[in-house]
Amino acid sequence: MGQISSNEIISIIKSEIEDFEIDKSAKETGSVIWVGDGIATVYGLDDAMYGEIVVFENGVRAMVQDIRENEIGCILFGKDTGIKEGTVVTRTKKRAGIPVGEEFLGRVIDALGSPIDGKGEIKSADYRPVEEPAPGIVDRKSVDVPLETGILAIDSMFPIGRGQRELIIGDRQTGKTSIALDTIINQKGKDVICIYVAIGQKASSVAHIVSTLKKNDALDYTIVVTSTASDPAPLQYIAPYSGTALGEYFMYKGKDVLIVYDDLSKHAVAYRAISLLLERSPGREAYPGDVFYLHSRLLERSARITEQAGGGSITALPIIETQDGDVSAYIPTNVISITDGQIFLESNLFFAGQRPAVNVGLSVSRVGGAAQTKAMKKAAGSIRIDLAQYREMEVFTQFASDLDEGTKASLKYGRSLMELLKQPLSKPMSLAQQVITLVCATHKVFAEVEDVKKYQGELLEYFEDKYGDIISRINNEKILDDDLKRRIEDVADEFAGKS
Ligand code: ATP
Ligand code: MG
Repeated sequence: MGQISSNEIISIIKSEIEDFEIDKSAKETGSVIWVGDGIATVYGLDDAMYGEIVVFENGVRAMVQDIRENEIGCILFGKDTGIKEGTVVTRTKKRAGIPVGEEFLGRVIDALGSPIDGKGEIKSADYRPVEEPAPGIVDRKSVDVPLETGILAIDSMFPIGRGQRELIIGDRQTGKTSIALDTIINQKGKDVICIYVAIGQKASSVAHIVSTLKKNDALDYTIVVTSTASDPAPLQYIAPYSGTALGEYFMYKGKDVLIVYDDLSKHAVAYRAISLLLERSPGREAYPGDVFYLHSRLLERSARITEQAGGGSITALPIIETQDGDVSAYIPTNVISITDGQIFLESNLFFAGQRPAVNVGLSVSRVGGAAQTKAMKKAAGSIRIDLAQYREMEVFTQFASDLDEGTKASLKYGRSLMELLKQPLSKPMSLAQQVITLVCATHKVFAEVEDVKKYQGELLEYFEDKYGDIISRINNEKILDDDLKRRIEDVADEFAGKS
């Protein structure tokens, strides 16, 4: 046998490549091998792409989620009854997406964009893929415009900026959803489009949320995307991406958007169910290895973009439910590391009547400081440190009987601050109300009064009635100079003298 020179090998390979012909035979249809639990494996769709929509004979759609050597795994967006072994599946060559547009405002839709509020069809302006790459670094702008929640405990100490991702984390029934809803309610007249994505919740809870929004005139500028606990896991999995696609439509048009994902713990569970059914190997806590990527590619899409790129922003408030306050579990640590800070809600505080139950020590906002108004920054001053000192002192003095006057005064002051941070539902505070409250608090106006909340209400009313100019100046100019600060303190003293 003669030796083949390297030149010959190259020419053989070359001719192989030149003679290679793409097999153009039917690759557009395949057939079902196995179906169950919202998952189908299909044979014969060799060219189908990840994320592509395929259609079954009976009209049910599915998304390609897993590509293996001889078969693909898809997640069904409808019931699997009527689909069986041998059912024909056809490619659409379209990536999964949802219709988007202005007409979606005020509506309640499912994860695929179909209305479920009985108010008729929605005319869409466009169609956007549910999975889109996040804006690149060049297209991003720093966060420096505040997104006011109207909640004193958050705006004063953990300010959120437009384009930021702030996690709301806590055990069940600690007021997580309430904080998100109050933030949406506070966006009235602030030119922010809100999107609330319900993932794996009870249909009755979603109905309650919709009615709360309606009651507070907040539904007009809000879109509710729902996938309830009874929906198949694929729909729960896709819902937050659909919501984000809607948000991106507005962001790239220069609008500011606020999106709430309620909650990502259930989202991870839905994804785990899908992955296990697709026979992906389970990892820590039985979640698949790419569960971090699941949430990072979702939250990376929230950003503030430059004028050239469109000029809008998406602010994200993802929610995570913890078990027994354990923030070191797998999913909580993941999302904590992806977001720009967290509002940590604590059951103990909640049950003690401290609502919203924000834990001041464990909460943080890493970028919002630049977005805080000058007025708020000045007014909030050292509140956070004062509260930290108060908590420490409270523990130390718990069993002490005779305290010196200084310590007593500090305790009273701290206690009054905690009282002031209590806030009822659906009662957002304006910037001026918050600033006046804080200035008066540091002026020790509330330290000695019996019923702090009542006194605060009356004092703010007094300002409203007699000193409307102070209120409108803070709300419009958003600054607090020394003169104005002194005037507020004088008015507070004047009020104290009268009452
Ligand atoms: P889940 O874990 O069930 O989703 P959650 O953490 O989202 O609960 P919410 O549903 O927001 O908690 O609130 C639980 C209950 O506490 C609700 O009945 C709500 O009305 C009440 N609540 C929440 N915040 C406040 C508040 N600031 N003042 C008074 N009540 C509140
Ligand atoms: Mg909730």
